[in-house]
Amino acid sequence: MFQRLQTKLTVLYAGLFALALSLVAVTVYVAIASNAQRTVRQELAASGTVFDRVWALRTQRLQDGADLLSRDFGFRAAIATHDRPTVESAIANLRQRLGLDLAFTVGVDGDVTGVDPARLDLEKLWGALDAEDGAQGVFAIDGQPYQLISAPILSPTLTGWIVFAARLDEPEMQALEKLSAIGLDAQVFDLRGGKWISADHGPANPALTAFVGQAMHDKVSEPRMLRGGADSLVLVKPIKALDKASGAALVLRYPMAQAMAPYRPLMGAVVIVGLIGAALVAAASWALSRGISKPIVALDEAAQRLQRGEEVIVEVTTRDEIGRLAQSFNLMAGEIREREAEMTRQALHDGETGLPNRRALERTIEGRLTGIGANQQVVVTAVGFDRFPQVRAAIGYELATELVAKLGQRIMDIAPGAMVGRLTTSILCVISDNDDLDAVLAIIDSVLPQLEAPILLGGEPVDVHITHGLAAASVGELDAARLIERALIALDQARAAHKKIMAFDAEAYGDPAANLSLMSEMLEAVRSGALYLNHQPKLDLRTGAISGVEALVRWNHPTRGFVRPDLFVGMAEETGHIRALTDYVLAQAIEDQAQLRAAGHDVLMSVNVSGRLIDDADFARHALAKVKAAGARLCFEITETAVIGNPDVALGVLERFADAGIAVSIDDYGSGLSSLAYLKQIRADELKIDKAFVMTLESGGKDALLVKSTIDLAHSLGMKVTAEGVETREGLAALQLMGCDLAQGYFVAKPLGLDKLVAFLGEWSIDLPAEAPARKLA
Ligand code: C2E
Ligand code: CA
Ligand code: CA
Repeated sequence: MFQRLQTKLTVLYAGLFALALSLVAVTVYVAIASNAQRTVRQELAASGTVFDRVWALRTQRLQDGADLLSRDFGFRAAIATHDRPTVESAIANLRQRLGLDLAFTVGVDGDVTGVDPARLDLEKLWGALDAEDGAQGVFAIDGQPYQLISAPILSPTLTGWIVFAARLDEPEMQALEKLSAIGLDAQVFDLRGGKWISADHGPANPALTAFVGQAMHDKVSEPRMLRGGADSLVLVKPIKALDKASGAALVLRYPMAQAMAPYRPLMGAVVIVGLIGAALVAAASWALSRGISKPIVALDEAAQRLQRGEEVIVEVTTRDEIGRLAQSFNLMAGEIREREAEMTRQALHDGETGLPNRRALERTIEGRLTGIGANQQVVVTAVGFDRFPQVRAAIGYELATELVAKLGQRIMDIAPGAMVGRLTTSILCVISDNDDLDAVLAIIDSVLPQLEAPILLGGEPVDVHITHGLAAASVGELDAARLIERALIALDQARAAHKKIMAFDAEAYGDPAANLSLMSEMLEAVRSGALYLNHQPKLDLRTGAISGVEALVRWNHPTRGFVRPDLFVGMAEETGHIRALTDYVLAQAIEDQAQLRAAGHDVLMSVNVSGRLIDDADFARHALAKVKAAGARLCFEITETAVIGNPDVALGVLERFADAGIAVSIDDYGSGLSSLAYLKQIRADELKIDKAFVMTLESGGKDALLVKSTIDLAHSLGMKVTAEGVETREGLAALQLMGCDLAQGYFVAKPLGLDKLVAFLGEWSIDLPAEAPARKLA
């Protein structure tokens, strides 16, 4: 409800104070009210008693007067003689003397003297007088209550009654009111026709009338509270009525408001003092809670600033809980800052060498790319350790890491303006401060000896062999990740080209994104005929005949032109499309072999089968069925690295091929990590020595020895040997001397289309003298 602690505390305190004050005020009020009520009750009771006394005295006085007159001889004589004038004068005389409102006689015969009989309810009066000797009480005359006193006139027998009447009217009541210490209101009620009616001529008060009726009915003798618009305490005192059927009551009323009036200033004072007190409490608690909430507000603000990553220190001013909280907050904020700094450091640094990591490099490049001019470039170099796994195996993981760190330090020493970070385990990345690619290339070239000087690790010098790949980007050309990627590709390109330094060659790299779409296009090419086979002849070095051909796939792409098989075969292997490609080649090779047979040339058809398919049982089943159905004479050339990859399954499949009469050839022998152990296990018919060895044969040296020993080894394992990549007459001669069985290469023939192959086979002949084989081509 309250947003601020200060407001909350203030409202709470002021509210509590107001509540306490209200309780006090109510208590005081109740005490005062009950006290006032008690006073009024006592007063009403006292007034009642006074009234009784007054009433009794008056009654006695009137009674004395009446008795006196009734015993007066002259009067009695006048009555007896019906001397009306005398009676009237006597009555008038006494009435005046006693200050009476009315005085009259009523004869036993009902004759009335001294008042107009029409004003009286004579029958009722007579009945009352007759019923009781000396009857007295309230009686209505002219609709007004009167106090009536009677005395019998005996002369000597009862001749009538003398009656005195005193009006119970306002002056009378006012006199009574004056006798009271408090200003109460006195009224006489009498029962007329079953209804209580006030003698007062003021406005009718139905609530009071009902109250009187109830009190008279209940015969209540003490004051009672009359609730209503204005509360008042009312004492109803029954007065004797003249006749039994009538009734009268004196009603003494005192409004409570009047009783409370003297206390009103006191209550007012209490309220005013209370309000002032509440205001003071509110102000004081506002100030107090400000003192409490101020440091909390400061902490709150500090926490928000901390959240925004700002540096905050809260001033500690007190030694209480809040002071300690502020102290803890400062400690916590400090720790958070330290942890954040450490996290940032860790996030941007390589844990092993302490050099900036790829993220830090990317950030820096990103920053440079936005900061350079239009014709400037950001130049990035990927510096790769050559043969790092071997180096690491030799000197151990720890020292190898130290080697990387030390090279990083060396680069920083040579080029203080450059940033050096670590991209991968064996590759560092340098962001040059020079903005020209060619200049950077030249600089690296000039400092290469310095960079490659041996590094001392644990006192021992270790050789450093590194390759540099460079890439550059201008504003808006590339993002940081792409630039680094290009530097890494440049490194690969440099290594492939056996160069120490190379800049990224976009042309050689091609368009990898476009290559991806190549696969769907390749499948389409199978259908459209853009894919086809060429066949490269294999020469039997003992007979001089072409005993076989190798089927090599070709793709004439409608827009790209001729696509190299290395590219799309490799991609098909990586993307899982090699099965479709091989199915096509196999079918086409079988068909081509049938056509060659029809042309009279029975040659062994070699088909390249990717190592990826050797453990594919479904392919094996499919291939075997096809070969069997066509009665084809085939050889599957398989790269031996793949066999080593999945030995158990692959060896089983190869057995099945052999059982079905399909020759198996180990392709590219020597290019992979050959294992003599596996050579022994594989039931292969042929070993193809990789062209990398064959092409360098004439230069002599190590390769010739390798080829010779490989041929001997294959022979001892019962395999024939094919040398591929035979480009020269000398090479062919050397192979023949070494005992090689078959030769394949441009010197014999390039891969040929089927028609050209048929023609070639038709015209083929060669002399193979032991020393200098000669080649005869049409
Ligand atoms: P590979 O199986 O080693 O095929 C021999 C490669 O050497 C062929 O290249 C051939 O044109 C080339 N060659 C032949 N004689 C000479 C020579 O005297 N000198 C030189 N420098 N090269 C020679 P190609 O046709 O470009 O094929 C490259 C590779 O693509 C093949 O190497 C093979 O691994 C793969 N390949 C080609 N066709 C198929 C195929 O139908 N299926 C599969 N799985 N792979 C294939
Ligand atoms: Ca091959
Ligand atoms: Ca090969």
